[in-house]
Amino acid sequence: MASTLSALALGLSASILSFLSPQTPLLPMTNTSINNTALSHFETTLQPLLSPTAQICHQNAPCFTRASSRWSPWHAPSFGVVVAVATPGDVAETVKAARGAGLGFLAIGGGHGATRSLGKMRGGVGVWMGGRVVRVGGGVLSGALMRFLAGRGLEGVTGVCECTSAIAPLLGGGHGWLQGRYGLMADNLLSAEVVIANGSVVTVSGREHEDLFWALRGAGQNFGVVVRWDYRVFEMEGKGEGWSWEEWGFGALVLHLSILSQTPTFPTHLTTALHSLSPLHPPQTGHGDLPAYSDFSGLMTMSGPFCTKNISATQRMPASLQRLNATALLAAAEMLANLPKELQNSALLIEAFSLEAVQAIPSASTAYPDRQGNYLLSPFITHPPHDANFEEIGEVAGRRIQDILFEGDGKGEGERRMYVNYAHGYETLEEVYGEGWRVERLRGLKRRWDPEGAFGFYVPIA
Ligand SMILES: Cc1cc2nc3c(=O)[nH]c(=O)nc-3n(C[C@H](O)[C@H](O)[C@H](O)COP(=O)(O)OP(=O)(O)OC[C@H]3O[C@@H](n4cnc5c(N)ncnc54)[C@H](O)[C@@H]3O)c2cc1C
Repeated sequence: MASTLSALALGLSASILSFLSPQTPLLPMTNTSINNTALSHFETTLQPLLSPTAQICHQNAPCFTRASSRWSPWHAPSFGVVVAVATPGDVAETVKAARGAGLGFLAIGGGHGATRSLGKMRGGVGVWMGGRVVRVGGGVLSGALMRFLAGRGLEGVTGVCECTSAIAPLLGGGHGWLQGRYGLMADNLLSAEVVIANGSVVTVSGREHEDLFWALRGAGQNFGVVVRWDYRVFEMEGKGEGWSWEEWGFGALVLHLSILSQTPTFPTHLTTALHSLSPLHPPQTGHGDLPAYSDFSGLMTMSGPFCTKNISATQRMPASLQRLNATALLAAAEMLANLPKELQNSALLIEAFSLEAVQAIPSASTAYPDRQGNYLLSPFITHPPHDANFEEIGEVAGRRIQDILFEGDGKGEGERRMYVNYAHGYETLEEVYGEGWRVERLRGLKRRWDPEGAFGFYVPIA
């Protein structure tokens, strides 16, 4: 399939507003104090009507500050709340809800307007039109998307590896750079065109086929082929600064570690346990935009080692952890060191990304089940391809390491989460897709959308 990628301005037309039916007459805002009762009524009415990635931004929230900053403070408007709209429907609902609550509203563009009457907006609703949407083809790769955005002064959540597709990580949730600022990749999906099992094409979003839209964001490989998707991205702040990373080197034992923080200085407590592993060199730290980080690391670029194909067989055994336990890490490293020489390129992958925005999104709102895991660990067991003996030795060792890691985190059977995008194949559905109610819901959706299990090759829900 042709890979397509295009940046779309939201393209909201002012004519949308003219279709609004008359509502409660707008009350003049004579009082500069904020009317909390009206704001609360407004929010309660609006919240269920917004598309999933629209956001109500309260005072002091980063999006509120970003939206309400003005070129000139002279008679600048001030807001009780800002709605970061994502779709034309969001604008329509926001206007209706504001009028219904008797609140004034004002669209916010670039914030450069400076005329006396704007100052009459006091404590009302800002309708922030600054959101950006990118339309992505089903075959676009992660790195192409990330660099496409950066080249236009935009940023969004993309997977770390430049040569995976952009969509498949999202279908399993989608961890990536900048998730602490914007949520998982799945949290930024606005809509998708999907070829379902009967061969028809359906569009899913927060308003159309919501059940399939829910499933697509965490268990998506089970439900269809995404041919096109609309995705929320953001204006890059400054030069993409405001976040930082640490990268550690441990020789062959731990092949890659990148810990990214949403703060300009790195919170070192996140990596305390790693000092006991005797790193080869002090952690390298830095900050910058995404292409700069990817190039700095070099591991996941199109010419990097992770983008090389057909070299050796690799099995992964993922473990989502709350804490890094130094004793468990040392035991894992020792097991790796004692593998037969044919498996000596094996390693332990440790990843951690900030979680602020990930955890701000209600857990039940998508099929992705694990918003609490602080660290993604996974043995990468490599061995000669097509060799059943080494394959088995590798699987036994990798599963033992996985056990050690979970035990070090105090997680017994039944409490373990294993990221679907790294899943090996032996996991239970609950370990991958979450608590019982999630699995039951997914089973029901599978019966509805794919009753014959046509999409049955990737951690199939049965
Ligand atoms: C080196 C490396 C780095 C990684 N980094 C990250 C990361 O940073 N974040 C993260 O979340 N995951 C990451 N992953 C995991 C990655 O998300 C999964 O391996 C993913 O399934 C790879 O997708 P792919 O399209 O490249 O592979 P494929 O093998 O081509 O596809 C994997 C699955 O997705 C399905 N699929 C592919 N395209 C579509 C489509 N358009 N519509 C529907 N289904 C489709 C395929 O049918 C298959 O079931 C990484 C994996 C590796 C090996």
